[in-house]
Amino acid sequence: MIPAARDDFPEIRNAVRALVREFGDSYFREVDDQRVYPEAFVEALTKAGWMAALIPESYGGAGLGLTEASVIMEEINRAGGNSGACHGQMYNMNTLLRHGSDAQKQRFLPEIASGALRLQSMAVTEPTTGTNTTELKTRAERRGDKYVVNGQKVWISRIQHSDLMILLARTTPLDEVKKKADGLSIFLVDLQAAIGNGMEIRPIRNMVNHETNEVFFDDLELPADSLIGEEGKGFRYILDGLNAERALIAAECIGDGYWFVERAVQYGSERIVFDRPIAKNQGVQFPIAQAYMEVRAADLMRYEACRLFDAHLACGAEANMAKHLAAESSWKAANACLQTHGGFGFAADYDVERKFRETRLYQVAPISSNLILSFVGEHVLGMPRSF
Ligand SMILES: Cc1cc2nc3c(=O)[nH]c(=O)nc-3n(C[C@H](O)[C@H](O)[C@H](O)COP(=O)(O)OP(=O)(O)OC[C@H]3O[C@@H](n4cnc5c(N)ncnc54)[C@H](O)[C@@H]3O)c2cc1C
Repeated sequence: MIPAARDDFPEIRNAVRALVREFGDSYFREVDDQRVYPEAFVEALTKAGWMAALIPESYGGAGLGLTEASVIMEEINRAGGNSGACHGQMYNMNTLLRHGSDAQKQRFLPEIASGALRLQSMAVTEPTTGTNTTELKTRAERRGDKYVVNGQKVWISRIQHSDLMILLARTTPLDEVKKKADGLSIFLVDLQAAIGNGMEIRPIRNMVNHETNEVFFDDLELPADSLIGEEGKGFRYILDGLNAERALIAAECIGDGYWFVERAVQYGSERIVFDRPIAKNQGVQFPIAQAYMEVRAADLMRYEACRLFDAHLACGAEANMAKHLAAESSWKAANACLQTHGGFGFAADYDVERKFRETRLYQVAPISSNLILSFVGEHVLGMPRSF
């Protein structure tokens, strides 16, 4: 194996890698080909306890930090799998852990830890406002002991394979708040109760094997105790959760990046053209070396983001930078790997084209590259705001 930035947590790495390899490349190729959810794989991860990594031991989980959770995600992708089917539970968990009430935690965490419930979905993006989150249109109005939700979301993933979903909606109209970020709230939605009773979904077929949907709310009633934390403070809670998400996605890209580099090194060293291994040519070798260095550098930033998050310190800059650097470098590694494989890079049996599609997503979701550059330019470096 090629060296990584750090090789700590060997027990986690070896166990996750072994689990992914039990399924093997052919399993991930097949679910991709058939566009089906890797149910058996997610079930096996759950049974092995990995999906409960962040849940405190007192609720039946492993009580690990974001650093360890990121290693789990990294190893899934590094071994050839795709964490996209299950990463939601990891980043949503922090929202519930940090901002949920004791009653919510008592009610849901033990069942999530045992695998009886899944918390895989988070609904933020809307079709008309896109990245401009604070202007989202979905409304949740308090009426007696209920909130009534109306609006629309898009690209909401894993709903059909989750029991719970975190929903961001506006509870105070935009023209009645001082700051745009105020007046938004988050709710824990019981999907079984909601679908067909004010919530409808329409699946979106997309470039990767990623179950994602349009969502329509038409007078969906949520019990008042679905609210997480204080009404009107949801955007701040979501940002905290998004930092965890950014660090975890960075780890997945790093896993992909190492996978691409490893495959490129292996194929480039074995494939003989003009009587020599193709990787003997520096035109083939250098792009792989360049991508590898960039993946390793991003790997260090991922650890820094996780360290800060686990210490409850501000980590917005590091989490965003880690995600950006990791997504860029895994894409560079993907291109180097595909180019090294020549025509075989396009053959499904080599898995390069599948991983190529999978890693491309992360320059758009969960946040696009431009939005990270603008965050760093404006909020880290203090340059003038563009929007
Ligand atoms: C497969 C998949 C799964 C997803 N899963 C989820 C999910 O589970 N939950 C969820 O809430 N969302 C999800 N998303 C949505 C995802 O987070 C958004 O697609 C992403 O944040 C970009 O938003 P948008 O598509 O509305 O793009 P837009 O906001 O329309 O932007 C389009 C492009 O324009 C650029 N752009 C926009 N404004 C500016 C500007 N001011 N300056 C420079 N560039 C700009 C953006 O960077 C982007 O490249 C998913 C998306 C996909 C594709």
